[in-house]
Amino acid sequence: FDNRPGEIWFDGAFVPWNDAKVHVLTHALHYASAVFEGERAYGGRIFKMREHNQRLIDSGKLLGFDVPYTVEEIDRACEATLARQGFQDAYVRPIAWRGSEMMGVAAQNNTIHLAIAVWQWPSYFDPAERLKGIRIDMAEWRRPDPRTAPSKAKATGLYMICTLSKHAAERKGYADALMLDWRGQVAECTGANVFFVKDGALHTPTPDCFLDGITRRTVIGLAKARGIEVIERAIMPEELASFEQCFICGTAAEVTPVSEIADYRFSVGDITKTLMTDYADAVRPQQEAVAAA
Ligand code: PMP
Repeated sequence: FDNRPGEIWFDGAFVPWNDAKVHVLTHALHYASAVFEGERAYGGRIFKMREHNQRLIDSGKLLGFDVPYTVEEIDRACEATLARQGFQDAYVRPIAWRGSEMMGVAAQNNTIHLAIAVWQWPSYFDPAERLKGIRIDMAEWRRPDPRTAPSKAKATGLYMICTLSKHAAERKGYADALMLDWRGQVAECTGANVFFVKDGALHTPTPDCFLDGITRRTVIGLAKARGIEVIERAIMPEELASFEQCFICGTAAEVTPVSEIADYRFSVGDITKTLMTDYADAVRPQQEAVAAA
């Protein structure tokens, strides 16, 4: 990924993709003092960009630092990077991190850096393939107690658990893993939130120790607009047997149906298909007003 054409926005200027480097003694590399975002552009416009960039700033505050740009400046930088790369459908990755002046757990005065990379990511909405649903394993690792880590931050350190879980699932032939939280309740997947369908209603875990995803909130809005009841509550893994449908959602995952979680089976039913289509419509520039309503 570090050898490509194009440019990356790096501390306020564009640098060639291959030159966007940090020193090996960067605090963030040693102590996970970094926060990031995953955004997606459709038809040249970044969906819910302001919410993502505000979350980036908020995540930095949860790690004890101020991203040295306003949300308006980060918005403009994301748009400029997208335009510079000349992409319509793309992934946008801002990341802010503590620099390399001091090495040690404490590094109060290290410079906070910000970089933004954009790469091409066409929206491959191939209904035939995705409508089969993906297979998910149960993860062995759990989301931590919010008293153990700032679980509302989209912080790099919290992704160690996700990579461990995702790698273990992939080794067993699964596409992803469903993680429980520290209490043993259903939490989320390694890069997406989870929803279930039962008796015509949506059930999804209360996001009290993991990301309340921007896609998750969008899907809740779309479901309510269709008159579908949405129940946010504690969900125990034993309940998986009682759900008829399941899907995951996130900026990258969009709305993706799930056919299996370990020994549990789900159908790709009408509510899942409807929300998949509604989301695909909502992200396109002319439709965002509907999603926001
Ligand atoms: N949970 C995790 C662990 C994630 O990485 C993501 C993707 N950012 C999500 C949930 C979904 O968040 P969003 O819809 O804001 O992309």
